[in-house]
Amino acid sequence: MATDQAQSESEGTDTYDAFESRVERIANVSNAAGVLQWDQEVVMPDEGTPARAKQLSTLSSVSHELLTADETGDLLDELESSELDEEQTAVVREVRRRYDRETSVPQELVAEISETTANAHPVWKRARENDDFEEFAPTLEKLVELQREYANHIDPDEDPYAVLFADYEPYIDLETAERILERLRDELVPLIDAVQDSDADLETDAFAGTFDDDDQEALARDALDALGYDWDRGRLDTAPHPFSTGTQFDARVTTRFDPDDLLGSITSTIHEFGHANYTLGLPDDGYGTPLGEARDLSVHESQSRLWENHVGRSRAFWEYFLPTARERFPELESVTPEAAYEAANQVYDDNLIRTEADELTYHLHIVIRFEIERDLIAGDLDVSEVPDAWNDKYEEYLGVRPDTDAEGCLQDIHWSHGSFGYFPTYSLGSVLAAQLYAAAEDDRGEFNEQIREGEFSGLNGWLRENIHRHGKRYTTPELIERATGDELGADPFLAHVKSKYSDLYDLDEY
Ligand code: ZN
Repeated sequence: MATDQAQSESEGTDTYDAFESRVERIANVSNAAGVLQWDQEVVMPDEGTPARAKQLSTLSSVSHELLTADETGDLLDELESSELDEEQTAVVREVRRRYDRETSVPQELVAEISETTANAHPVWKRARENDDFEEFAPTLEKLVELQREYANHIDPDEDPYAVLFADYEPYIDLETAERILERLRDELVPLIDAVQDSDADLETDAFAGTFDDDDQEALARDALDALGYDWDRGRLDTAPHPFSTGTQFDARVTTRFDPDDLLGSITSTIHEFGHANYTLGLPDDGYGTPLGEARDLSVHESQSRLWENHVGRSRAFWEYFLPTARERFPELESVTPEAAYEAANQVYDDNLIRTEADELTYHLHIVIRFEIERDLIAGDLDVSEVPDAWNDKYEEYLGVRPDTDAEGCLQDIHWSHGSFGYFPTYSLGSVLAAQLYAAAEDDRGEFNEQIREGEFSGLNGWLRENIHRHGKRYTTPELIERATGDELGADPFLAHVKSKYSDLYDLDEY
């Protein structure tokens, strides 16, 4: 009896080892693809595209074949009926989820989606340049149809938009996301009205002028140094659309330098630092399995928004960082920390473009996209109605109406990628950032004094301990509950923006 049990335990271990090595091979293929993608965005010469597209497509099919092979299914079945420890259970849960989704969608449909999106990108680009929605409409129609079909294969009984959303945010249910977005809409619309009616005169021109790229880069490196970025496991480069990518051993940051927009390069660098810093905090010994991988998009975005908004747009940060900025740019000599703070937090009147939005109005841009794409996928809105629906909502929520579709519903790349359900994670990330920051201050006291001294290890230590080191060990709601004692909710975010903006804009009623 004892021998039987010992034997079955060792068989279980062998099965888990075989499973783990398969999972690691899949991760290595994806991580190799990530390096090639970084290379494509950052250093590859223009003519490299045809070969690179083939390399990436091969890696993507290798990883798909490894994941969806019968062997993976057999190993999962076997492990699910054996005794597993907590870590093994988490790894099996995560791989099972991916396996079920990828095996339920026929390869022909995957190929059709990928071909359609590859062709959609230039069509969208041209339509935007020509300000001609009609040009993009048939493609958008096709993309919506394919996404519905895709969702139907994964779960024919579920709301297709909920299925698509779960691709980006597997553990936060759509009702929770919807409730939070509605709350943001209902509370932010009157707050933005009050800001726009306010007579307060913010100093908004602290960073007006033109700024040399090389000096901007030096300052971006200063900011990363100050925040504690590990240069032995990272690097900084430029890319037209900044991003960060990598693993806990090599998490790279990109940023952009625009001579007219010094503040934009600083905030974008800090944002991408937040993403890379999360990746660097994942456990080394979890590399290759979900235990060493970041939780999904909302948690990732919470890390970038926390550093960008709660640190990089704080008064304390500008008291600390302005002297460094003055060393690189002596023309900032007469700028005060208060003026820098006000410039970094001004709310714009003319709010048409999402990527140029401030911390407050940003969420209405997201709510608008969410409402439109949810109705599109549900069939409650025709593609031909998108421009009017878009413009009406901008007028209603933000008090501005785009003159052109280029500045309206054609401004974002996401739908041309076939990404429906992605946008909400941006707002959920900000909401979670505020919740985590408040919980960290509850645990460790206010960070302002430390930030003013350029000391960020207290805050980062809390994030390492409560978020980063767990990888995908817990589902997202469990992770949030353990870190904050609460479920995901908008209260801390709303408290943060109400207090910040009523102070900046002298709003009595808030
Ligand atoms: Zn981000």
